[in-house]
Amino acid sequence: MELDLETDEQIRNRFQDISKEIAVTGQSFYHNGWVFGTSGNLSAVVSDEPSLLAITGSGLDKGNLSSEKIILIDREMKVIWGNYRPSAETALHLTLVQEKSCRAVFHTHSIWSTILSQKYEKDGGIWIEGLEMLKSLDGVKTHEHREWIPILKNSQDMDALAIRLKEVLNQTPNIHGFMLSGHGLYTWGKTIQEAKRHVEGIEFILEVHGRMDSLNPKQKKTNKR
Ligand SMILES: [Zn+2]
Repeated sequence: MELDLETDEQIRNRFQDISKEIAVTGQSFYHNGWVFGTSGNLSAVVSDEPSLLAITGSGLDKGNLSSEKIILIDREMKVIWGNYRPSAETALHLTLVQEKSCRAVFHTHSIWSTILSQKYEKDGGIWIEGLEMLKSLDGVKTHEHREWIPILKNSQDMDALAIRLKEVLNQTPNIHGFMLSGHGLYTWGKTIQEAKRHVEGIEFILEVHGRMDSLNPKQKKTNKR
């Protein structure tokens, strides 16, 4: 792809800065046990015009992620810079950037998101409420907030999933993240730091929810939306 010389340099510098931030963030997710075994992916917008996204290359160990392992792609998932392929899940990152106007999208495969998304798939989502950690979510000022995390049925058909995701985003515009059943969490933010905070907040809340379920297995609660 040929870019204007000055723009090319600006974009390259921003891509390098963003790649470093993504690499450090990916390593921290790995050390929290949220992206083991090459799972998960992290992306951030580098440029709007042209539309360019930095994203982790496919099949990489996030424990030793470095900035050279981040690739730059365009809206059609064509690799502009970098030596790796984008993962199939990139389609969902691009959908979120377009629909939510966010600047970063992070996807994890934690144990608790895997367990809870499978358990509550039949309800179409999970309610979380009453926790101080909800204030880690953008715009949430009190623990009295009630947050819906939709759960979509998992699929390897990313085009179909992207269409389903658009529907869910239209139906529930105020959400901060969603899960794929038996698979993991997607969340996003206006900055890399905000998306990281959302991962940390939601993963914390999901673990609390899961452990509470384990402590009170007979507790009946309505979770339907
Ligand atoms: Zn995944």
